[in-house]
Amino acid sequence: MALGRVQDEDGLGVATGVLTGERSAPDAELRGRVALVTGAASGIGRAAAARLQAAGMEVVAVDIEPDESGPGTAVRADLTDAQANAEAVAAALDRFGRLDVVIANAGVQHVAPVEDFPLAEWQRLLALMLTSPFVLAKHSWPALRASGSGRFIAIASVHGLVASPYKAAYVAAKHGVVGLIKTLALEGAPDGIRAVAVCPGYVRTPLVEHQIADQARSHDVAPERVLEDVILAPHAVKQLIEPDEVAELVAFLAGRAGNAFTGVAVPMDHGWTAR
Ligand code: NAD
Repeated sequence: MALGRVQDEDGLGVATGVLTGERSAPDAELRGRVALVTGAASGIGRAAAARLQAAGMEVVAVDIEPDESGPGTAVRADLTDAQANAEAVAAALDRFGRLDVVIANAGVQHVAPVEDFPLAEWQRLLALMLTSPFVLAKHSWPALRASGSGRFIAIASVHGLVASPYKAAYVAAKHGVVGLIKTLALEGAPDGIRAVAVCPGYVRTPLVEHQIADQARSHDVAPERVLEDVILAPHAVKQLIEPDEVAELVAFLAGRAGNAFTGVAVPMDHGWTAR
């Protein structure tokens, strides 16, 4: 194993301590591994499932409304039900006999002032975005340990780091899943399991498109105004994130390059949390 300095094109040396001559193609280590992705029929989950499949992984694509023509092997499950999470993990193991990467992504939003926030919506959001990742981790843990380099990646949110008004359940669930990820990282370390929370700002998906449409209707303004004046207001760079940008980070974290990322919440938020 040769430790050395990698020379860039100018011969200036770009890094020390890199394993020279042993670099594999970025996706090589993902090939033949198995990933379970929740909320895989739409938005970020769909993009992540497609990206991991393109890297040569077998993908189990879990959703309440699965898309048989989407990436991966579609599995139907309502993940607000704890038992359904256990069964989704069992389905992946039955089908492929191993599980190396779990992407806990499924999520929904409900916007209301706290005094009007329906208890049932609070419970639904917490069940889907906090309890589901916990149950997925609990049941996938032996397989992730057996993998030797298991990865548990939660698609949290910038709302796992900062709050916005009227999103009590979403913000609480996302802060909770960041705490879960830190705990999983500490427990998983001796077994080679890494746990990471990805924290995007606003991503161009149906979840955000519905928010834009709702606000345009309720304030009687054009959707473009809602996008610029409301949605993009906290982004320093006035752009939505694209689902495939999140998927690229997921593939990075799932692979060898993500080796040192564990117990962290990784923001990708166009400068939102720089404020
Ligand atoms: P999306 O609405 O495009 O996709 C969500 C998917 O989850 C859908 O396919 C839906 O059918 C599935 N789903 C919903 N309820 C489910 C249930 N009970 N059981 C199983 N599947 C269920 O949303 P998205 O924007 O891709 O969001 C994915 C994740 O990313 C969520 O956790 C969300 O909080 C997070 N996120 C999104 C944004 C954004 O701006 N879009 C930003 C930060 C974080």
